[in-house]
Amino acid sequence: MAEAKSDAFSADLALALYWEAARASRLLLKHCRDCGKTHYYPRPLCVFCMSANTDWLEAAGVGTIYSWSVERRATPPYAIAFVTLPEGPTLLTAIVDCDLDALAIGQHVTLGFETREGQPVPVFRPA
Ligand SMILES: [Zn+2]
Repeated sequence: MAEAKSDAFSADLALALYWEAARASRLLLKHCRDCGKTHYYPRPLCVFCMSANTDWLEAAGVGTIYSWSVERRATPPYAIAFVTLPEGPTLLTAIVDCDLDALAIGQHVTLGFETREGQPVPVFRPA
């Protein structure tokens, strides 16, 4: 059987691998072999140089808060944040199991997963 390598196929495969890893509490990133940068969320082409020469890279599972916001009108209140990973990408995520008044820029956080709308999504909690 010939290999189908259309962009749509690659995108579907990338998503399937990403969600399979997420169900195992592993966060997958994409690393570009041509420019050396890592991007998230995973896409078939490097977002920096458009190369298709990319590999999967499992995130170490740590990060630091770049910025955050607390939604205090929600019941219960919650925090969202941009968390920068040591691999390079900064991702928008939730900060859970935390003191909402103690969050800080540069705070170290660790990766976890929570199920939201039936899908495992990456969240972070104070280290
Ligand atoms: Zn690249």
